[in-house]
Amino acid sequence: MFRKVFGNVLNWVYPPSCVHCGKAGSLICDDCFSKLPAVGKHYCSRCGKPLMPKHFCRHCGKSEFSFTACRAPYLYDGPVSAMIKGLKYNGTLGLVPILSKLLADFWEENNWAVDIVVPVPLSEKRKAQRGFNQSEVIAGDFSKKTGLSCDPRILMKQRNTLQQVGLTAEERRENLSGAFAAEPSLVKGKRILLMDDVMTTGSTFSECSSVLLNAGAKAVYCLSVATTPIDHRKHKMPDA
Ligand SMILES: [Zn+2]
Ligand SMILES: [Zn+2]
Repeated sequence: MFRKVFGNVLNWVYPPSCVHCGKAGSLICDDCFSKLPAVGKHYCSRCGKPLMPKHFCRHCGKSEFSFTACRAPYLYDGPVSAMIKGLKYNGTLGLVPILSKLLADFWEENNWAVDIVVPVPLSEKRKAQRGFNQSEVIAGDFSKKTGLSCDPRILMKQRNTLQQVGLTAEERRENLSGAFAAEPSLVKGKRILLMDDVMTTGSTFSECSSVLLNAGAKAVYCLSVATTPIDHRKHKMPDA
């Protein structure tokens, strides 16, 4: 209640502006909201990356993923990347209900049979620096909207890793190796929906999935708000 009143007062003193175009009035204006870049109906059924019609996924051809499947409703581009950056780097928590609503709406039409939602964890150090884990706050709000239960204690990040930005796929895998740990008593026999803000190469999802499967999970599905498009000209993906 206090937070709501305080939030309203803050909105009055500092009216929100669109994180993408700067237009005053709301965190994402109607115009930008109407242009969210969707992945569309041609995508890889395994990794969720957008595909050209009748093409095989080049991304999956080079990678061995441990998750069953991965999906994202949007591309990490334009207003979607502006919202995710606004949350992550500016701490604009007012974007959480907007992002989780987008995911919940997508989930209603594209759901898997799962038992529990698990956010991709940050290390304690990174979480303390940022003040929150963006995946955890999105997953928490998503679970309220969908009625699925969510348990952030299931997966922990037990050591710091380098920023994934700028690393090759191979370096990302090495960087993440042994970084995560799962609580077997909470995982055994469960079908897990692993949630993150952005999927880039899929190495984080894959590493977390293999830790969860080794701890006894029955299956791991992955869902992120956005996925980076594959740049076929450069044969690599831009960084999140
Ligand atoms: Zn706008
Ligand atoms: Zn694929």
